[in-house]
Amino acid sequence: MAQWILIGLCVGIVLGAAPAGAQDRATFTVGTATAARGQKAVGAIEVPAGVDAALSIPVVVVHGATSGPVLAIVAGLHGTEYASIVAVERLIHLLDPAELSGSVVLVPLVNVPSFEQKVPHVNPVDGKNMNRMFPGRPDGTQTERASYLITQQVVEQCDHLIDLHGGDLDESLRPYTYWTKTGNEPQDSISKAMVLAFGLDTIIISADRPTDPGASRYLENTASTRGKPSFTAEAGHAGTVEPEDVDALVNGSLSVLRYLKMLPGAATPVESPVWIERLADVTSEATGIFTPLVKRGAYVQRGMEIGYVTDYVGRRLFDARAPESGVILYIRAVPSMTRGETIASVGVVQR
Ligand SMILES: [Zn+2]
Repeated sequence: MAQWILIGLCVGIVLGAAPAGAQDRATFTVGTATAARGQKAVGAIEVPAGVDAALSIPVVVVHGATSGPVLAIVAGLHGTEYASIVAVERLIHLLDPAELSGSVVLVPLVNVPSFEQKVPHVNPVDGKNMNRMFPGRPDGTQTERASYLITQQVVEQCDHLIDLHGGDLDESLRPYTYWTKTGNEPQDSISKAMVLAFGLDTIIISADRPTDPGASRYLENTASTRGKPSFTAEAGHAGTVEPEDVDALVNGSLSVLRYLKMLPGAATPVESPVWIERLADVTSEATGIFTPLVKRGAYVQRGMEIGYVTDYVGRRLFDARAPESGVILYIRAVPSMTRGETIASVGVVQR
């Protein structure tokens, strides 16, 4: 409880002050990218070698012609969630510093080894999930060193952050955003407006994320626990780059830029979204071949069979049933199934 009050005070102080990254300065630098006002610069966040190899994370800084907030848009913490990576590539081309107020930091692909080696969920260099090690440490393995530099260079320099994800290679996911309720009302109202402006029609209310900035684990929480209204969005599934998924992430980001008054024009917020109050995950009790019986986005009733696992000669080992009524946010997209892995995530709709 004391911790909550302390964090609330800190967040209040940060929100009450001028935005951390409010840019009156002539240039804006992230990593090796330095943009003069009204310019776009390309560079890298260079993670030096340590106990394992070095890593070069591409970054683009768009330093607007006039001053305003700093928005960071990051993708590819999971390097095979392709639609989100392609969406940031599109934004890099679309954003024109001449019409921008403030600055946008674009990081299209953090987990380069995952992308290059087509390894889902983790950084294959050290086997760690790149969205669980924040705020990172300078003397850890590659994931921890990269997380540390992203915290220092990107999170600390921004006022707002959007972390883009999607269904990974083995996940058939329907698009949604997470809205984190930190308990700080002014901050939460801004992040809620950002999520609504982003426009996805399904929003997970996330109230159980870490509150300690020193153990924030997720990128979005690293920003949120530092008093910066931020959120995570997911679109894309199972290695595909569908135009509707990329469009949703690109147009959502542009709408948030309009809500923040960094771009001219009005935001186009979603009307009457579906609010998800909690997630009920289904875990496999068997190793074998998974067959789904429902598709992403389907509404299911508690107890309904949503898939099954057989052994490698077709004998049924496990029937997967919905633990609660709700919407299938994602379901395993490939037959490979190992005992203890998540089969599906059911979003329980807020009444
Ligand atoms: Zn992800």
